Amino acid sequence: MKTVIVVGGGASGMAAAFACAEKHKVILLEKNEKLGKKIYITGKGRCNLTNDQEMSVHMKNTVTNPRFLYSAYAAFSKEDVKALLNVYGCPVKTERGSRVFPVTDHASDVTKAWTEALKSRQVDIRLNTKVTGLIIEQGELKGVQTPGGPIAADACIIATGGLSYASTGSTGDGYRFAEAAGLAVKPCRASLVPLITQETWPFSLSGLTLKNISMKLKDPEKPKKPLYEDFGELLFTHFGVSGPVILSASAYATRPLSEGKILKLYIDMKPALSEKELDERILKDLEKYHNKSLKNALTDLMPQAMIPVIMNEAGLSEDKKANELRKEERQRLNYTLKNLELTITGTRGFNEAVITQGGIDVKEIDPSTMQSKKVKGLYFAGEVLDVDALTGGFNLQIAWSTGTLAGRSIE
Ligand SMILES: Cc1cc2nc3c(=O)[nH]c(=O)nc-3n(C[C@H](O)[C@H](O)[C@H](O)COP(=O)(O)OP(=O)(O)OC[C@H]3O[C@@H](n4cnc5c(N)ncnc54)[C@H](O)[C@@H]3O)c2cc1C
Repeated sequence: MKTVIVVGGGASGMAAAFACAEKHKVILLEKNEKLGKKIYITGKGRCNLTNDQEMSVHMKNTVTNPRFLYSAYAAFSKEDVKALLNVYGCPVKTERGSRVFPVTDHASDVTKAWTEALKSRQVDIRLNTKVTGLIIEQGELKGVQTPGGPIAADACIIATGGLSYASTGSTGDGYRFAEAAGLAVKPCRASLVPLITQETWPFSLSGLTLKNISMKLKDPEKPKKPLYEDFGELLFTHFGVSGPVILSASAYATRPLSEGKILKLYIDMKPALSEKELDERILKDLEKYHNKSLKNALTDLMPQAMIPVIMNEAGLSEDKKANELRKEERQRLNYTLKNLELTITGTRGFNEAVITQGGIDVKEIDPSTMQSKKVKGLYFAGEVLDVDALTGGFNLQIAWSTGTLAGRSIE
């Protein structure tokens, strides 16, 4: 039996400690006053703990290094986490988009179940304990440093998370440990994060949600193939755009933006209608409200607050009478509704990001064990690695899967 230290009591650290404690004495060190602080805020306090679609779909929803996760997904799947939580008192349910939540709708019940699981295997949980460095001798992990003194160990699993929502404890310590150990770390960027627009008109629409729109995100230098396209809900904010489709798009925008590129976002406000069908629809509304000005004639077609924006973008006056709109002007209106353009200049910061893109270079890690190739006995799990996925429960599944694989791999 070995002594194994797990650094970080978040999702991946709890999974790692539980798996490892089957065979070894495990000490779980968490710098916060409680375990799983970030889990409390996941899924708007309900914790979307995994996704019920096949693991191949998890791979498809993994944005960075999906193939690296092959063994981890096989070691501990969505079925495994659902079963484990059920055993330790947290039954789950599946909702729209195959998103899995605790039946109680309380994220705290997920942490409670993991805590029960850890106790059942006598994991030594030490809260308020911050690891300040690793002790490595001749390429072998020997222990960790804490303000209270060193703690010796035969192996260590770093599960310190990324940089998003630092108030939950994710302050990037694991990257520093890895760098000090001579491991490469890929640059970190905020992902699943709202986007900043150059245009200021979204600011005045702050709080307005557009439902059932479709969008395309493009690099103007390669306009043929969108970086990302999606259908769903978009929210205007005081700095630009947010909402589900934007958060997902950000996963593909954050890298080019960090390299100084400017991107274009095209919103189709009427994706269910072809241009011809939309023209017929506009004609119908103009006929219905023929004596009214455009600002009052287009209210069936779009939210009132959008009308001045669309008119401006289409180069039309909102005071123009419905029955005075010429064919060519109608076409401009049609085009704008289907191609509303925004310029994306950046992302919001880590404190508004669901996830960190970048992290410990997966080339440094054996994907079948999560062990560092350079330092014997040093393992990594969760967001600290250069892996990230879209929303839908996929990121927590990465944490459970990589944590479990790391924990189990220690012989
Ligand atoms: C607002 C928000 C909502 C989210 N919602 C979802 C969702 O619904 N579904 C989903 O799949 N994903 C969601 N995520 C992402 C998900 O929370 C993360 O992917 C996941 O928590 C990563 O787990 P982790 O264990 O790697 O890191 P973390 O959960 O960040 O845990 C790391 C832990 O390590 C501790 N730690 C760090 N440094 C040290 C140190 N030096 N010594 C001791 N302890 C240390 C920290 O205090 C922390 O407890 C959400 C994220 C956010 C921010």
